[in-house]
Amino acid sequence: MDTLAHAVYGAALFSRTGLAGGRRGAVDKQLRAVACDWTLWAAAGFGLLPDVFSLGIYFTQLAFTGEPLNFSAIPAYVLVLYKLTHSLIVASLGLGLLRLCGKPLVVPALAWPFHIFMDIFTHPHGPFQTPFLYPLSDFAFNGLRWWLHPWFIRAYWALVALLWLGIVIWRRRRIRPKAAS
Ligand SMILES: [Zn+2]
Repeated sequence: MDTLAHAVYGAALFSRTGLAGGRRGAVDKQLRAVACDWTLWAAAGFGLLPDVFSLGIYFTQLAFTGEPLNFSAIPAYVLVLYKLTHSLIVASLGLGLLRLCGKPLVVPALAWPFHIFMDIFTHPHGPFQTPFLYPLSDFAFNGLRWWLHPWFIRAYWALVALLWLGIVIWRRRRIRPKAAS
Protein backbone atom coordinates (compact mmCIF):
# COMPACT_ATOMS: atom_id res chain seq x y z
CA MET A 1 0.00 0.00 0.00
CA ASP A 2 1.41 3.42 -0.84
CA THR A 3 2.47 5.72 1.99
CA LEU A 4 -0.09 8.44 1.21
CA ALA A 5 -2.92 5.89 1.40
CA HIS A 6 -1.69 4.87 4.86
CA ALA A 7 -2.02 8.51 5.97
CA VAL A 8 -5.52 8.89 4.48
CA TYR A 9 -6.75 5.61 6.04
CA GLY A 10 -5.20 6.58 9.39
CA ALA A 11 -6.99 9.95 9.37
CA ALA A 12 -10.28 8.34 8.22
CA LEU A 13 -10.32 5.79 11.03
CA PHE A 14 -8.48 7.36 13.97
CA SER A 15 -9.16 11.11 14.00
CA ARG A 16 -12.10 13.11 15.38
CA THR A 17 -12.90 14.27 11.86
CA GLY A 18 -12.85 10.62 10.83
CA LEU A 19 -14.66 7.61 12.26
CA ALA A 20 -13.14 7.95 15.75
CA GLY A 21 -15.10 11.22 16.13
CA GLY A 22 -18.32 9.24 16.12
CA ARG A 23 -21.49 10.85 14.84
CA ARG A 24 -20.54 14.22 16.27
CA GLY A 25 -17.20 14.40 14.47
CA ALA A 26 -15.92 17.43 12.65
CA VAL A 27 -17.03 16.70 9.07
CA ASP A 28 -20.24 18.74 9.44
CA LYS A 29 -18.31 21.77 10.58
CA GLN A 30 -16.60 24.36 8.42
CA LEU A 31 -13.54 23.32 6.45
CA ARG A 32 -11.45 25.56 8.70
CA ALA A 33 -12.55 23.56 11.76
CA VAL A 34 -11.60 20.33 9.99
CA ALA A 35 -8.17 21.75 9.10
CA CYS A 36 -7.70 22.76 12.76
CA ASP A 37 -8.50 19.26 14.04
CA TRP A 38 -5.08 18.26 15.39
CA THR A 39 -6.15 14.61 15.67
CA LEU A 40 -6.59 14.52 11.87
CA TRP A 41 -2.95 15.52 11.31
CA ALA A 42 -1.70 13.33 14.17
CA ALA A 43 -3.51 10.24 12.80
CA ALA A 44 -2.20 10.95 9.28
CA GLY A 45 1.32 11.39 10.75
CA PHE A 46 1.13 8.09 12.64
CA GLY A 47 -0.08 6.47 9.42
CA LEU A 48 3.05 7.76 7.70
CA LEU A 49 5.43 7.00 10.59
CA PRO A 50 6.58 3.45 9.71
CA ASP A 51 7.68 4.46 6.19
CA VAL A 52 8.94 7.97 7.02
CA PHE A 53 11.20 6.81 9.87
CA SER A 54 12.79 4.12 7.70
CA LEU A 55 12.70 4.66 3.92
CA GLY A 56 11.99 8.38 4.40
CA ILE A 57 15.37 8.75 6.14
CA TYR A 58 17.06 6.99 3.20
CA PHE A 59 15.30 9.24 0.66
CA THR A 60 16.32 12.33 2.66
CA GLN A 61 19.91 11.07 2.69
CA LEU A 62 19.78 10.64 -1.12
CA ALA A 63 18.40 14.17 -1.50
CA PHE A 64 21.38 15.57 0.39
CA THR A 65 24.10 13.39 -1.18
CA GLY A 66 22.68 13.41 -4.74
CA GLU A 67 23.18 9.63 -5.02
CA PRO A 68 20.75 7.76 -7.29
CA LEU A 69 17.96 5.65 -5.77
CA ASN A 70 19.03 2.02 -5.61
CA PHE A 71 16.68 -0.37 -3.83
CA SER A 72 19.30 -3.15 -3.90
CA ALA A 73 21.86 -0.98 -2.04
CA ILE A 74 19.76 0.30 0.81
CA PRO A 75 21.94 0.74 3.94
CA ALA A 76 21.56 -1.94 6.63
CA TYR A 77 20.50 0.61 9.25
CA VAL A 78 17.51 1.61 7.08
CA LEU A 79 16.42 -2.03 6.84
CA VAL A 80 16.68 -2.38 10.64
CA LEU A 81 14.60 0.80 11.07
CA TYR A 82 12.09 -0.62 8.59
CA LYS A 83 11.77 -3.80 10.67
CA LEU A 84 11.43 -1.84 13.91
CA THR A 85 8.79 0.55 12.59
CA HIS A 86 6.86 -2.36 11.00
CA SER A 87 6.76 -4.44 14.18
CA LEU A 88 3.51 -4.72 16.13
CA ILE A 89 5.62 -5.31 19.25
CA VAL A 90 7.46 -1.97 18.83
CA ALA A 91 4.19 -0.21 17.95
CA SER A 92 2.57 -1.65 21.10
CA LEU A 93 5.46 -0.35 23.19
CA GLY A 94 5.05 3.06 21.56
CA LEU A 95 1.32 3.05 22.30
CA GLY A 96 2.02 1.99 25.89
CA LEU A 97 4.38 4.94 26.31
CA LEU A 98 1.79 7.31 24.87
CA ARG A 99 -0.83 5.91 27.24
CA LEU A 100 1.47 6.82 30.12
CA CYS A 101 2.60 10.27 29.01
CA GLY A 102 0.61 11.42 25.99
CA LYS A 103 -2.85 9.94 26.41
CA PRO A 104 -4.71 12.21 23.91
CA LEU A 105 -2.41 10.83 21.20
CA VAL A 106 -3.34 7.19 21.82
CA VAL A 107 -6.33 7.02 19.43
CA PRO A 108 -4.58 8.85 16.53
CA ALA A 109 -1.53 6.63 17.16
CA LEU A 110 -3.60 3.52 16.35
CA ALA A 111 -2.92 4.50 12.72
CA TRP A 112 0.60 3.10 13.28
CA PRO A 113 -0.39 -0.55 14.02
CA PHE A 114 -3.10 -0.23 11.34
CA HIS A 115 -0.37 0.65 8.80
CA ILE A 116 1.50 -2.52 9.85
CA PHE A 117 -1.68 -4.60 9.63
CA MET A 118 -2.26 -3.45 6.03
CA ASP A 119 1.39 -4.02 5.07
CA ILE A 120 1.34 -7.59 6.44
CA PHE A 121 -0.90 -8.66 3.54
CA THR A 122 0.37 -6.31 0.84
CA HIS A 123 4.15 -6.91 0.97
CA PRO A 124 5.82 -10.10 -0.33
CA HIS A 125 8.87 -11.86 1.09
CA GLY A 126 12.02 -9.78 0.58
CA PRO A 127 13.74 -6.77 2.16
CA PHE A 128 10.39 -4.98 2.56
CA GLN A 129 8.37 -7.84 3.97
CA THR A 130 6.49 -7.01 7.17
CA PRO A 131 8.17 -8.70 10.16
CA PHE A 132 5.32 -7.84 12.52
CA LEU A 133 6.85 -9.86 15.40
CA TYR A 134 10.33 -8.29 15.16
CA PRO A 135 12.66 -8.47 17.14
CA LEU A 136 11.27 -11.77 18.47
CA SER A 137 10.94 -13.21 14.96
CA ASP A 138 11.56 -12.24 11.33
CA PHE A 139 8.45 -14.16 10.27
CA ALA A 140 6.42 -12.43 7.55
CA PHE A 141 3.56 -13.42 5.25
CA ASN A 142 4.21 -13.59 1.52
CA GLY A 143 1.68 -10.88 0.72
CA LEU A 144 0.52 -9.24 -2.49
CA ARG A 145 2.97 -7.07 -4.47
CA TRP A 146 0.56 -4.14 -4.36
CA TRP A 147 2.62 -1.99 -6.75
CA LEU A 148 2.19 -4.59 -9.53
CA HIS A 149 -1.62 -4.57 -9.33
CA PRO A 150 -3.25 -1.33 -10.52
CA TRP A 151 -6.71 -2.84 -9.78
CA PHE A 152 -5.71 -3.23 -6.13
CA ILE A 153 -4.44 0.37 -5.92
CA ARG A 154 -7.70 1.62 -7.46
CA ALA A 155 -9.70 -0.59 -5.06
CA TYR A 156 -8.10 0.64 -1.85
CA TRP A 157 -8.32 4.30 -2.92
CA ALA A 158 -11.97 3.82 -3.89
CA LEU A 159 -12.61 2.15 -0.53
CA VAL A 160 -11.14 5.01 1.50
CA ALA A 161 -13.04 7.57 -0.62
CA LEU A 162 -16.26 5.63 0.11
CA LEU A 163 -15.35 5.54 3.78
CA TRP A 164 -15.04 9.36 3.92
CA LEU A 165 -18.27 9.74 1.95
CA GLY A 166 -20.01 7.33 4.32
CA ILE A 167 -18.84 9.34 7.35
CA VAL A 168 -20.19 12.60 5.83
CA ILE A 169 -23.58 11.04 4.95
CA TRP A 170 -23.85 9.40 8.39
CA ARG A 171 -23.34 12.75 10.14
CA ARG A 172 -25.61 14.69 7.78
CA ARG A 173 -28.44 12.23 8.55
CA ARG A 174 -27.97 12.97 12.23
CA ILE A 175 -28.43 16.74 11.88
CA ARG A 176 -31.28 16.72 9.31
CA PRO A 177 -34.21 15.97 11.74
CA LYS A 178 -33.05 18.82 13.97
CA ALA A 179 -33.05 21.28 11.07
CA ALA A 180 -36.62 20.24 10.14
CA SER A 181 -38.09 20.82 13.63
ZN1 LIG B 1 4.94 0.42 5.49
